[in-house]
Amino acid sequence: MKEKIKALARQYQSAAVAHRRHLHQFPELSFQEVQTGQYVAQQLAAIGVEYQQGIAGNGVVALLKGKNPRKRTIALRADMDALPILEANDVPYKSQNTGVMHACGHDVHTASLLGVTHILHSLRAHWEGTVKCIFQPGEEKLPGGASIMIRDGVLENPRPVSIFGQHVHPPLRAGMIGLKPGIFMASSDELYITVKGRGGHGAMPQDCVDPVVITAQIIVALQQIVSRYADPTMPSVLTFGKINSLGGATNIIPNEVKLEGTFRTMHEKWRKEALRRMKKIAESLAKGFGAACEFRIEKGYPVLHNHEELTARTKKWAIEYLGKDKVVDLPIRMTSEDFAYFSQAMPACFYRLGTGNPERGIISPVHTTTFDIDEAALETGMGLMAWLAVQELGRK
Ligand SMILES: [Zn+2]
Ligand SMILES: [Zn+2]
Repeated sequence: MKEKIKALARQYQSAAVAHRRHLHQFPELSFQEVQTGQYVAQQLAAIGVEYQQGIAGNGVVALLKGKNPRKRTIALRADMDALPILEANDVPYKSQNTGVMHACGHDVHTASLLGVTHILHSLRAHWEGTVKCIFQPGEEKLPGGASIMIRDGVLENPRPVSIFGQHVHPPLRAGMIGLKPGIFMASSDELYITVKGRGGHGAMPQDCVDPVVITAQIIVALQQIVSRYADPTMPSVLTFGKINSLGGATNIIPNEVKLEGTFRTMHEKWRKEALRRMKKIAESLAKGFGAACEFRIEKGYPVLHNHEELTARTKKWAIEYLGKDKVVDLPIRMTSEDFAYFSQAMPACFYRLGTGNPERGIISPVHTTTFDIDEAALETGMGLMAWLAVQELGRK
């Protein structure tokens, strides 16, 4: 089976490159993936598989049936959206949609999953069960397409027993993958704080309530949530990246200051607790100094948890497919990813697909204007995922 999959991955590699380049040239922003969804549907129709469009907007779901389709169902997921970035690469497949770029490699995920679909469909007489291929919109934007697809029932009828997802990873060479069991990626919540004082002349603070000084205290005090309330063995990070005094000047105390930040951690219970404490501290500090504080939390993605046993199996199967030297253990990451919603709903494994090639200068990180991949990664991306699907379906 392994050799059959490898041969097909090699055979479909040029088609996967063509899909990836097409998607790369015509990127679409989160929840606007109309053409992308259409393209995926056309390709699925060409392969000859059953699919449904318009799930969570532009989402597409294909059902692949092997022998005895009711035996077991598993799910595979690719995200399809691009980012508001102006591409700086001078390549034949450069983005034609100015200011929009597949800088997070979701074109690679989508092209790979199309390849997986083709491989599994070609080999349908050789495996048992059903594979649900989920082409998901809106990963890069809250509330995340994954949460909407789950709400709309993507994990029902039939319900998969487990789900796999992959993500490009420039620090790893093409041909390799990396994974980590257990907690892998952080939860991420956005904080929007407004401190309302009473403005006036900068020389007469006694007649004002200065929101700038109060905001400064709030920033420092909230850092103590991380340094004094968090379990030191549990990663947490709080960053305020934006602060804005409305109407202030060198000699004017403003009425209001707005503060924006992100809080990330790896533990759902602590996440709730930390947010509750932050709100309380900010509000009571402001109140103590005679100001008011509006503390708004925009909830982001939850913690991405890789199921321990499923990830151990994935690692074993990946070594069988790629070889021991091509599979590495990765540390946790404080970035977030809406695949986390799937990982909260069922056993899930999210692994990173090596796409780098330092000799060819392909090293730019994701979310940069110069991000690109070594397209050899597509053959690994589709072959390995097809292999994992077959192994998970065939498991005793
Ligand atoms: Zn991204
Ligand atoms: Zn991404």
